[in-house]
Amino acid sequence: MTETKEIRKSTTDPDCGFMSRENKQEMFCYLDHRTTDMKFNIITDAYVTPGNVHDSVPYLSRLDRQIERFGFKVEAVALDSGYLTNPICKGLHDRSIFGVIAHRRFQPTKGLFPKWKFTYDKEQDIYVCPNGQKLGYRTTTRDGYREYKSDPKRCATCPLLNQCTRSKNKQKVVTRHVWEEHKEKVRINRLSPSGKVLYKYRKEKVERSFADSKELHGLRYCRLRGLHNASEQVLLTAACQNMKKIATHLAKLG
Ligand code: SF4
Repeated sequence: MTETKEIRKSTTDPDCGFMSRENKQEMFCYLDHRTTDMKFNIITDAYVTPGNVHDSVPYLSRLDRQIERFGFKVEAVALDSGYLTNPICKGLHDRSIFGVIAHRRFQPTKGLFPKWKFTYDKEQDIYVCPNGQKLGYRTTTRDGYREYKSDPKRCATCPLLNQCTRSKNKQKVVTRHVWEEHKEKVRINRLSPSGKVLYKYRKEKVERSFADSKELHGLRYCRLRGLHNASEQVLLTAACQNMKKIATHLAKLG
């Protein structure tokens, strides 16, 4: 059976997308995927997509575009939790970029063990459960997830069953993406002293840039309909902000 997905379309502006995210207002909108530099907060890229395109989708291609077009030697990037995906973590590793990405909270089913309770042993390529059972590798799914499974006979007598599988005949399955180690590296970066400094800067730089666009340059609302017009508005806003930033910097230099 093929799964079908209902996509909501605006009747007034079919180009935009319906954004539905946790803790955010649901609406038809466009998204401005923006990059700013860490030193002067110059907007180095502003790319508009419909509101239903996830932040992580255009990220690596936009990063590459900036590297190619401006010849940037990118040493580090700081991103919010929406970008914490395996392909982005691997992409940053492949480009030798120090990635710092905010932690994303996954809500495990209430009362059940979260995944971090199962310890990964790289040497043996196994997970060890809270009761000390070794979960061996069984198979890799088409989506690139390696599956580690428990022995249901041992689980049947486990005192922690109620916090794990909750069924005597069920096997516990822990998954691990083939690129998971890159995600773990990004986590280590985030907790490092430089990672903490970089992430603090992210809030002061790109968040500030968005706030200025909305509060000082009228980017809270689209002036015209259509992806092309929304992109023009975003690019003009970015150009104005950059001119102001450059002028301020030159004035400081005298
Ligand atoms: S139910 Fe099985 S996998 Fe879960 S903690 Fe007990 S022994 Fe480990």
